[in-house]
Amino acid sequence: MTAAGSWRAGGISWGVKELRYIVVTGGVMSGLGKGITAASIGRLLMNNGYKVTAIKIDPYINIDAGLMSPFQHGEVYVLKDGGEVDLDLGNYERFLDVELTRDHNITTGKIYSTVIDKERRGEYLGKTVQIIPHITEEIKRRIRQVSREGGCEICLIEVGGTVGDIESMPFLEAMRQLKYEESGNIFFVHVTLAPSTMDGEQKTKPTQHSVKEMRELGLQPDMIAVRCEKPLLPETKSKIAHFCDVPIEAVISCHDAQDIYKVPLQLDQEGLTRYLMKAMRLFPLEERRDWADLVRKMDAQREPVRMAIVGKYTSSSQCTDAMEDAYLSIREAIKHAGIEAGLLPQITWIDAEELEAGAPEIVLRDFDGILVPGGFGSRGTEGKIKAITYARERKVPYLGICFGMQLAVIEFARNVCGLENASSTEFGPTPHPVIALLPEQENIRQMGATMRLGNYPAHLKKGSLAEHIYGTTEIVERHRHRYEVNPAYIQLMEKAGLIFSGTNGDLMEIAEILDHPFFFSSQFHPEMRSRPNRPSPPFLAFVQAMKARKDRMAQAPISA
Ligand code: GLN
Repeated sequence: MTAAGSWRAGGISWGVKELRYIVVTGGVMSGLGKGITAASIGRLLMNNGYKVTAIKIDPYINIDAGLMSPFQHGEVYVLKDGGEVDLDLGNYERFLDVELTRDHNITTGKIYSTVIDKERRGEYLGKTVQIIPHITEEIKRRIRQVSREGGCEICLIEVGGTVGDIESMPFLEAMRQLKYEESGNIFFVHVTLAPSTMDGEQKTKPTQHSVKEMRELGLQPDMIAVRCEKPLLPETKSKIAHFCDVPIEAVISCHDAQDIYKVPLQLDQEGLTRYLMKAMRLFPLEERRDWADLVRKMDAQREPVRMAIVGKYTSSSQCTDAMEDAYLSIREAIKHAGIEAGLLPQITWIDAEELEAGAPEIVLRDFDGILVPGGFGSRGTEGKIKAITYARERKVPYLGICFGMQLAVIEFARNVCGLENASSTEFGPTPHPVIALLPEQENIRQMGATMRLGNYPAHLKKGSLAEHIYGTTEIVERHRHRYEVNPAYIQLMEKAGLIFSGTNGDLMEIAEILDHPFFFSSQFHPEMRSRPNRPSPPFLAFVQAMKARKDRMAQAPISA
């Protein structure tokens, strides 16, 4: 029954393996957590033993998220093949514990550029090239190609934006066609909102209108997942069922959860899995308990540790969601590490520019650890460097990510090796370019490919903190950067105590200080391979180091 080519369905062999599609659309407004709802549905099916993958459709014209501002759109997430994509793909990787590729993020830009290239090559044989059928065919072709990779059994398709947006029309039309072509194996979930009035009444009109809009496009949801503050009342459910033409069991309450990782089990309790699996003729193949265990660990009493993230734009006075989204994977990786270590890391976002004028011994006094994340450009760098000096001298645990490693190298070159005005060529000419573009990169750069992106291996030095943290000497991590440690300065810095304990040929991947309780920085982004049940080793070691420092300080407060 589980032989290749046959569909595993609780004892029934369907002969040819039929892939199931679950299309998730959104109504009423953006920002409802459609991606989390979709990822949670995927996790619930995984918990029942199915192999799930996900495709995110972003109806914008950009080819990918590479050039989009993280402070407007959230972080640019990097996939193993170097695809620079929407942050929702990060959520899919974390919830489904998979590694996706750039093809899992479909944008209008990608679709049109393929179709236009084909047209220029004469592949349309003189026909008029149109949205229907040429654009819609290309959308379906990509979906089918990606969903069949790796023996997946269920493919989630999240259509970004809101039903009714002009940009998403071709995608919704492609979904309408897919409904016929994949009849019986496709299920539509529509995520909407039921706002509450002051006296707690849950309003259903926005949901009704949005379903009406879908129907006008020839689509009828099979399930309506309703975002709401408090659980949906029975009368609200029945009203939605009635007006939107779905059974009452297919109206699912998606009320606010304390944490995104609690959403899957909450949806399960609401009856989502039962209804969906029945409708799609899926039977439980196994019962995985790991997600429930994760939530249990998360709920256990955990000791707080306090950390500062010193970044650009991260003004502590305006700690907005947009800013937190700009560092989403870091926030999640810290959370994963905290759950595993039984600790509750509390993050304070500190604006590097504020620190430029301020005194680090006052601003950073109360933290058990300091993290400097990735970044581009010179704004705020001197403030970040001040924070690194403070962490190095005061022996405060330090985790530097990408830019956070480059600045740690600059800080060390200036203040320990005495290389005055040492810097990165990213900021302009410097007498000591300790961070620079390598000559071979200069050539690549001229050809337009400027970044080192995606998974690359690194070799770790035996006996280093890095080896201790990872428990191995060979690792693979995600990258997104242009500049590198300049090999001309390595010997000098290593002699002075900054050790490059992770390397990939001539490229320096990790810099650590031995004479320090925890000073670890990496050119790669370990946060992007962190999973709720499998925290990133550097993050886990960092939160543990924070706890150790907290204990040390409690024992010897006066020497602080
Ligand atoms: N700006 C630096 C570079 O391009 C660091 C990039 C980053 O932190 N992601 O190399």
